[in-house]
Amino acid sequence: TSSGFRQQYMIHEQLGKGHFASVHLCVERSSGSRFAVKIFEKRGGNDRSRTEGLQQEIAVLMSVSHPSLLCLKDTFDEEDGVYVVLELAPEGELFNWIVMKQKLSESEARKVFIQLFQAVKFLHERNIVHRDIKPENILLTDKDLSIKLADFGLAKIIGEESFTTTLCGTPSYVAPEILEPGNHRRYTRAVDVWSLGVVLYICLCGFPPFSDELWSDENPYTLSQQIKMGRFDYPSPYWDPVGDAALDLIDKMLTVNVDERATIDECLEHPWTTLAEINPKDSTDGLTGAIASLDFSKRKPHRERTLLATMNEVRVSRVIDIAPQSQVKVYEKNGSQSRKHNATKSKTGTNGAANREGTPG
Ligand code: ATP
Repeated sequence: TSSGFRQQYMIHEQLGKGHFASVHLCVERSSGSRFAVKIFEKRGGNDRSRTEGLQQEIAVLMSVSHPSLLCLKDTFDEEDGVYVVLELAPEGELFNWIVMKQKLSESEARKVFIQLFQAVKFLHERNIVHRDIKPENILLTDKDLSIKLADFGLAKIIGEESFTTTLCGTPSYVAPEILEPGNHRRYTRAVDVWSLGVVLYICLCGFPPFSDELWSDENPYTLSQQIKMGRFDYPSPYWDPVGDAALDLIDKMLTVNVDERATIDECLEHPWTTLAEINPKDSTDGLTGAIASLDFSKRKPHRERTLLATMNEVRVSRVIDIAPQSQVKVYEKNGSQSRKHNATKSKTGTNGAANREGTPG
């Protein structure tokens, strides 16, 4: 564009901040329309790698147009920074919505995930892997849960046998194959399905399936060990109101074996996604009672868990360092009630949702 960003737009308050950029509300002077502008400041130093990542993000954004993908309006390369003008998502992050509401009902989650599955299917069909799906990158355009998948900073257009050595993604959401050092850290479409599975789990209960901080007394494994083993469960009472179909879908998405993990098409066709009938126990209120009956010395309150896990471990480090494996302790089951996931079983075996303990059918 010939004239500069500030000639065409007025910058307003900051909407968010990531590792590479800050995002502000802006208003187009000619139309009065509101947009978001992502500003990558130029400060010298390691700008080259920053700019390369940015070029990639812009290239991906320019090549896609889908109702559930954030749309690129314009870019300005100026002396002080690069300005990327984006469609505005006025209701902010899905993350904040979950924190506010504590969790989503199944029908709310279904509404969000139909859009997400379609957006990711659209990307995968174009050989684009997002690689950084998490609730902070799922933005809401209205209070009716219309979403836009954002932050294509790590998205990559992949070839069929794509390998990359960059470790990227966010620890809690990263797929197990990325954590295997011998695996050449292969990013395929399957990594997005895994991350979506983690997000779906969080949406339905309000805390993450894998976490360093939160399971220490019951679960002696580090975050990366838990992920590599696909070790998670559906603790009672949080998961009691959630139907079998949801657990079955999460099991299929959080399957360690890449070849057995659900594809995005399978996610779209899964009975939970296509379900017309409503689970009678489905409610966002059920949890409040469940939380009240908990022993807080053992389990942290739900809201705190979400904040702790998502904000601390997830926001702080985007590029992961894999620490040398500490000794794996023998896990002893402690008899606490929980619906177990069983995704390592073969496709022909019983699925995880069917293999539950202590929950009424
Ligand atoms: P990260 O380090 O997470 O990759 P980033 O530097 O790539 O971050 P984004 O994640 O794209 O930046 O944006 C940071 C935050 O700004 C988002 O989490 C969100 O809160 C806000 N944001 C980004 N784009 C928009 C938008 N179009 N409308 C509203 N808010 C937005």
